[in-house]
Amino acid sequence: MRVNVSSHDLKVLDHKHHLHPFTDHGALGVDERRVIAKADGVWLWDSDGNRILDGMAGLWCVNAGHGRQEIVEAVRAQMSELSYYNTFFKTSHPPVIELSEMLAGLTPDHINMVMYGSSGSDANDTILRLVRTYWALQGQPDKKVVISRKNAYHGSTMAGASLGGMGPMHSQGGLPIPGIHHIDQPYWFGEGMMTDMNEDEFGLWAARELERAIEEIGEENVAAFIAEPIQGAGGVIVPPSTYWPEVKRILESRNILFIADEVICGFGRTGEWFGSGYYDLKPDLMTIAKGLTSGYLPLGGVLVSDEIAEVLHRENVEFFHGYTYASHPACCAAAIANLTILKREGLVERVRDQIGPYFQKQWKALESHPMVGQARMVGLFGALELVPDENDLKKRFANEGKVGTITRDHSFSNGLVMRAVRDSMIISPPLSISEEEVDLLIASTRKTLDDAWNDVRKQGLA
Ligand code: PMP
Repeated sequence: MRVNVSSHDLKVLDHKHHLHPFTDHGALGVDERRVIAKADGVWLWDSDGNRILDGMAGLWCVNAGHGRQEIVEAVRAQMSELSYYNTFFKTSHPPVIELSEMLAGLTPDHINMVMYGSSGSDANDTILRLVRTYWALQGQPDKKVVISRKNAYHGSTMAGASLGGMGPMHSQGGLPIPGIHHIDQPYWFGEGMMTDMNEDEFGLWAARELERAIEEIGEENVAAFIAEPIQGAGGVIVPPSTYWPEVKRILESRNILFIADEVICGFGRTGEWFGSGYYDLKPDLMTIAKGLTSGYLPLGGVLVSDEIAEVLHRENVEFFHGYTYASHPACCAAAIANLTILKREGLVERVRDQIGPYFQKQWKALESHPMVGQARMVGLFGALELVPDENDLKKRFANEGKVGTITRDHSFSNGLVMRAVRDSMIISPPLSISEEEVDLLIASTRKTLDDAWNDVRKQGLA
């Protein structure tokens, strides 16, 4: 890192040379950007010296919290022992073997194998090829269609963004690729509430969209259903309680695979090791990334059931697929050290039994704010739905997203990173957050809501 570069100069250089992901560069002023220079625990420091509470755990990934020297040391030691080798062509290495065994110990009993990549997106690319290959090897090459959901997020690669159900992403680059079918999402506050169904009925209806899609496409053509147990980037969409049991019932009677995308839900976010565990689901495949290393180094993967592994283990079968940096030794060492911390400190159980309930109670109380229509949270994974009129929860702000952005900007000014999805505010802090830090987070959120509500009224938006 260069030293003695002023904060402003860093921003100028960033503006000149760095194309950011998911960013409207035309609208991003040079000094409007934040340069994050340092982090420890749940705290970030920017290049202007401001301390900010990382309410998003980076990008929903720093589950163990920032600045864990134990992970840094494990990576350093691994880098000096074996900084790179691959696992192609009859080779392996100790950290990938140790990590795979560790993961098999955390997953449901019927899942014991993992194929690695570097991210959630490439893991979902692997999955799309893998499920189609699996069915072809089973003598059913026509089983190719993957059913997904509108407003799902499964990554930014061609397959990831196609599996995802984000309209703006589909509008660029000729997506979705063929063979992906999107059904409605179980979003009660955003969509269900506007129908004449109650929440339970809406959950059943949304689940049965899967059944209707299978009927329409033909079970003989459907390879799999992919879903996040709780949609993350879509807005922390917690399905009605009727949804997953009904989807389970449908999947049990159909010969299609179920893929749980655990990229956000995995590794403790819901208070269970996996979101599918939280909902008692039985996936055939699971996508993992993010919390696997707490973001210290990039690593993703696909967890595979014994049934699928058995087919891939048959004689003369080869899956022609792999990435140079999959199962990178340093990334595996980071994952091992990270999982060791999560286990040793009981961080997952803590989310379920202590800090989760502590946070949820205060989060729920935010519903008393005039701009909050709903406050929901599972584990340490929550959203606030912002509305113009607390007495009419079906009413929405005109110019969707504007109030969310105003609120997000106030949140930053109040020393808290929250994310805005449309007009909802998202929170997903490190699992290591203390009660005192939760109190600070809630106080910043209250102030943010008050500041934003003032602006919203001043600007005549409510
Ligand atoms: N799946 C889900 C559920 C995600 O939330 C994300 C990232 N937010 C991805 C896949 C893609 O992961 P990555 O950004 O590591 O490619």
